[in-house]
Amino acid sequence: MVHRLLLIGRDSADAETIRAALAEVRGWNYSVEWVRQLSAGVERLHTGQIDAVLLDLVLPDGQGRETLEQLWSAAPDVPILILCDQDGESLAMQAVERGAQDYLLKTHLDSCTLRHALRSMIDRKAAAEALFVEKERAEVTLNSIGDAVLSTDIAGHVTYLNVVAESMMGWTRQDAVGRPLTEVFHIIDGETREPVPNPLALAVQENKTVGLTANCVLIRRDGHEVAIEDSAAPIHDRRGRVTGAVIVFHDVSGARAMSLQMSHLARHDVLTDLPNRLLLSDRLAGAIASARRYRRQLAVMFLDVDQFKHINDSLGHEVGDQLLRSVAERLTRCVRNSDTVSRQGGDEFVVVLSEMDQASNAVISAAKILAAVAEPHRIAGYELHITASIGVSVYPDDGPDAETLLRNADLAMYHAKERGRGRYQFFQPDMNVRAVERQSLEHGLRRALNRHEFLLHYQPKMDLESGAMIGAEALIRWRHPDRGLLLPTQFVPIAEDSGLIVPIGQWVLREACRQAQAWHDAGLRPMPVAVNVSAVEFRSPGFLDGVRGILEQTRLESRYLELELTESVLMADRESTVSVLRGLKALGVQLALDDFGTGYSSLSYLNEFPIDALKIDGSFVRGITHDLQGAPIVCAVISMGKSLNQRVIAEGVETAEQLAFLRAQRCGEGQGYYFSRPLVAEQFTKLAPAMSDAVR
Ligand code: C2E
Ligand code: MG
Ligand code: MG
Repeated sequence: MVHRLLLIGRDSADAETIRAALAEVRGWNYSVEWVRQLSAGVERLHTGQIDAVLLDLVLPDGQGRETLEQLWSAAPDVPILILCDQDGESLAMQAVERGAQDYLLKTHLDSCTLRHALRSMIDRKAAAEALFVEKERAEVTLNSIGDAVLSTDIAGHVTYLNVVAESMMGWTRQDAVGRPLTEVFHIIDGETREPVPNPLALAVQENKTVGLTANCVLIRRDGHEVAIEDSAAPIHDRRGRVTGAVIVFHDVSGARAMSLQMSHLARHDVLTDLPNRLLLSDRLAGAIASARRYRRQLAVMFLDVDQFKHINDSLGHEVGDQLLRSVAERLTRCVRNSDTVSRQGGDEFVVVLSEMDQASNAVISAAKILAAVAEPHRIAGYELHITASIGVSVYPDDGPDAETLLRNADLAMYHAKERGRGRYQFFQPDMNVRAVERQSLEHGLRRALNRHEFLLHYQPKMDLESGAMIGAEALIRWRHPDRGLLLPTQFVPIAEDSGLIVPIGQWVLREACRQAQAWHDAGLRPMPVAVNVSAVEFRSPGFLDGVRGILEQTRLESRYLELELTESVLMADRESTVSVLRGLKALGVQLALDDFGTGYSSLSYLNEFPIDALKIDGSFVRGITHDLQGAPIVCAVISMGKSLNQRVIAEGVETAEQLAFLRAQRCGEGQGYYFSRPLVAEQFTKLAPAMSDAVR
C-alpha cells in the first residue's frame, strides 16, 4: 500500500532528507509530493488523495494559526505532522494543541523516527475515523429506534440519552448527562403510587438484564406521567467488569389504556355502562361473603321493564335503547354507592342491596325504584310512561349463594308480572312450582296447533242505536289437555315471547274467516268478524300476503274482515307501518284500534293512519259508573272518532247504566257481557238470528 504524503516547506534539503528516509521503508511505501508554498499545498489538498501532510510552519505565504486553518478547510481529516527546528519548537507545540497530530525536529529526520511518527499518526487517524463511524452508527441507530435509551456509569450518573428518551423524559441530553439517575428518571408504581426500585441499580447489582415492575409510570420533568414498560441491562468493559448500565423503555400509555378499556368492556354493559352479568356475579359473591361474616342480610332485586318488547317493536330499537339508559340512570340514583346496579341484558336489571339491616329496607328500595321508573321518560319526542316489575330474594333466607338468589329473584319477578305488573314481589318457596308451570305452558303451546287444541269464541258487537248485532269478535281459547280452558291472557304473552304467536295468529285468522264464510253460506245475515292481531304478528314478514291468501282460500269478502290492532303497532317505524296498513286497506279489510286509550302515545298521529274504528278500552267504560273517571275519556274518544270519521266501539259494556251513558253520548257500537259473553260457534249460530234483529 502506498501512502501519499504532501510536504509543504521551503527547504529543498529537508525534502531530500525526507525522501531519502522514507525510501528505505519496507512494507510501508510512501510517495512524497513536495510544494514550497502554502497556496500550492492547499491547492493540492483540494484535489484529494493525500494521506498525511508534513508541514514546515515557516512558509513564504503562511503564518502560524492561519496556516493550519487553511489546510484543514481544504482537507479537514488529513493528519498533519509539523516539522520545525529548535527555535520553532514552541510554535509547533501550539500547533499540536490546536489539532496537528504531532511535530518532529528537523534534526531528527532519520528514517526510523520519521517512519514511526508517520505510521502512528496515520494509524491513529484511521482508528479515530473508524471509531467515529462506529459511534455515528450507534448514535443513528439509537435515535432511529422507537424506544427510549438511557445509560449511566457505575456510580449511577447519566451518560447518555437518545432523542426518544429526551422527549419522553422532558430532559435534554445536555441537561441530564452527569446528573444522578434518580434526579432525572422518576418512576412510580401506577397503582400504589409508591416509588419503584431503580432498575439500573438492580441490573448493576445482579449483573443481568432485569425487567421493570409492572404498571410502571414515569414522571416527566414537567410532572406529566407516562406509563412505561421495559428493561435495564448492565454494560461491561473488555474484561467483563460492569461499568454502567443501560435502560431501554417505551411508552405504553396507549396499550395500557386499551387494556384497561378492554377489561372494563368485558365487565360492563356497553349500552348503559352498568356492571354486566360477569361483574355482578363477582360483586354478589363478595357481598354474600361479607354478609355471612357480619351476619347481615342482603337483597337481590330482579327488575324487568314491563312490555318493553312492545316499545322496542313499535317505537324502534333506538328509542328502546334510550329508554333502557334512562331506566339505568334512575336505578343508579335510587341506591347507595355500596349497592350494585347491573344490566343482565335485554330489559332486565339486577340490583344488589348489600349491608341490609332488615328486609324492610328492600321494601323501601323496591317502592322507590318502581316510583322512579314510572316517572315519564322523555325520549325522542315521546313521553313514555312505563312500569317495571321487581322480584326480590333475601340472603340468607332465600338462598345461600348468588345463583340461587338470582334465580329466586327472577321467579318472584315473574309473579309480580302475573299479578299485574308495576309491582314488586318477594320470593316465596312455592314459586318454583309456578315457574315450572310457565315453562310447561310454553312447551305445550308448541304442540297445541298440531293437536287442534285451540278454538275461537265469538262475542257479538252491537249497534247501540238499533240494538241489532252487527258483527263479532273472535277470541282465542286454548283447551289445555290438563288444565281445561285457558284464556288468552294466560298464554298469549308466552306465545308472543316465543314467537309462536305468528303461526297461532295465522290459524286464528283462517279459522275466523272460514267460520264467517260458513255463516254466510248457511244464510246468516253477513257481518264482519273481528280478529286480534298482536304487534309481533303485524311486524312478521309476509303478514300482508298471509291475510290476502287466507281471504282467497276462505272466499270471505274482505269487507267482512276487521283486524284489531293495538296502539303499539302504529308507533313503530312509521313508513313500514303505513305501507302495511295501506296494503290491508287496498285489500278492503277494516282496521280497528283496540284498547284505545291505554297506549303510551299522543293522539296526534292518529289521522296519519287509515283506521276505520276505535275501540274504547273496557277499563274506561267501567269507569263511567265506578268512579266517573272514565266518563270524560269515553266522551273525548267518541267525539274524536266522530271528527276523524271513525266508528267508535265501546268494549266491556256490563250494565244498563253504562249502555245508557254510551247511547246518550251517541257512541255507535258496543260489546260486552251486558249483550253477550263470548260464545262458542254453535251457540253463536243459534243466537245470531234473534240478535241480528233490531230491538227497536
Ligand atoms: P280484547 O281484544 O280487548 O278483547 C276483549 C276482552 O274483553 C276479551 O277477553 C273478552 O272476553 C273480554 N270481555 C268482553 N266483554 C267483557 C265485559 O263485559 N267485561 C269484561 N270484564 N271483559 C269482557 P279475552 O277473550 O280474555 O281476551 C283478552 C285479550 O286477549 C283480548 O283483548 C286480545 O287482546 C287478546 N286476544 C284474544 N284473542 C286473541 C287472538 O286470537 N290473537 C291475539 N293476538 N290476541 C288475542
Ligand atoms: Mg280485541
Ligand atoms: Mg280490547
